[in-house]
Amino acid sequence: MTTTTATTSYWNPFADVAALATSGRVTIVRGEGSTVWDDAGTAYLDAIASLWYCNVGHGRAEIADAAAEQIRTLAAYQTFERYTTPATEALSAKVASLTHLPDAKVFFTSGGSESIDTAAKLVRAYWRAVGHPDKEIVLSREHAYHGMNAYGTSLAGIPSNLDVFHPLVPTVERVAWDDAATLRAAIDRLGPDRVGAFFCEPVIGAGGVIAPPEGYLQEIQAICREADVLFIADEVVSGFGRLGDWFASERYGIDPDMITAAKGLTSGYAPLGAVIVGPRVCEPFWSGTGAIFRHGYTYSGHTASCAIGLANLEIIEREGLRDRVRALEPVLERVLRPLEAHPLVSEVRAGVGLLGAVELDAGARAADPGLLNRVVAGARERGVLTRGIRGVALQVSPPFVVTEAELEQVAAAFAGALDAAAAG
Ligand code: PLP
Repeated sequence: MTTTTATTSYWNPFADVAALATSGRVTIVRGEGSTVWDDAGTAYLDAIASLWYCNVGHGRAEIADAAAEQIRTLAAYQTFERYTTPATEALSAKVASLTHLPDAKVFFTSGGSESIDTAAKLVRAYWRAVGHPDKEIVLSREHAYHGMNAYGTSLAGIPSNLDVFHPLVPTVERVAWDDAATLRAAIDRLGPDRVGAFFCEPVIGAGGVIAPPEGYLQEIQAICREADVLFIADEVVSGFGRLGDWFASERYGIDPDMITAAKGLTSGYAPLGAVIVGPRVCEPFWSGTGAIFRHGYTYSGHTASCAIGLANLEIIEREGLRDRVRALEPVLERVLRPLEAHPLVSEVRAGVGLLGAVELDAGARAADPGLLNRVVAGARERGVLTRGIRGVALQVSPPFVVTEAELEQVAAAFAGALDAAAAG
């Protein structure tokens, strides 16, 4: 493995860029399937599908061809007001058809953070359009991650991601991640006439891969319905097959008013996000009341990104990758579970599609704040790329094309890295 220590102009997100001058960067140059290579030719198993997104795997020539063909014809044309393009139309129809929300409409963005801020603004516009402008408070959960734009940062439940950004959007409140009663209490305390929406990742992702307690999602949906609060499922990670269904909402039998998505929509072959909007929120805007959602991005409905999205979804369908995720779910659990016996591990979380986490013992982390990073580096030295999430756990979210042998390789590299860390 080589790292680039030369000076750079690139400012890495979430990085101590000064420290990188000595610790070095890893330059990834190529990918195929679940494997990526660095600039020295070292291969790594990509246990996190880059950043939870490369669901169809790296190096898909078919997607490159679709992109090239679209770019040669028309790279992009803006879609504000009356303009549209065939790829934009086709992908929105496709995405709408994949959700179980009846007659859904799709508002495209450039990624997950924009999807969240779009949904939050749509909440405001919706309640204003239907005559309840005071329903402006939005709720989210502790441990939540909803991206990095203004609303998303404010909605987040990971304190280290918001501490230096105060004051945040003031009309945001958080409830417990696992207790529906706290949602009901918050709505009662704030007043149902002031609460507009509840944002919720069906499975918490960056907060640590935490599945919902049994019945929790149904309960919060019922509370939202009863209090007339919009229910928004943030499926930026879970959308497009990561849990084995097109959407986690389908797996858990919930009917959100909106679904936010990104990542798996294109498997990251181009940046693209979406807000999938159910009939209730569409109604005032689509029924001729004159209400206009004055919102959009330069790249909303970007033509080439949409062509890439279509090619990506076609691969997921044609290759039966959702079935593959379902088949691999117990395999991932089987290979990770033994790590729970390791003295540095407090919990292994799996059993929710191709998502998993290995949480390190709190005492060990407190005694050695560099522990998680060392285990991540140790896994990399053993040929597996992972990352720390919420400072507590190792992330596992491989491409859907990962093999059983590769999943075993992930667990073996984690075990080796944990042993090395335990040995000091
Ligand atoms: N929502 C969730 C649940 C996410 O996991 C993420 C990113 O990881 C986002 C929103 C933000 O997406 P993006 O990084 O594409 O802006």
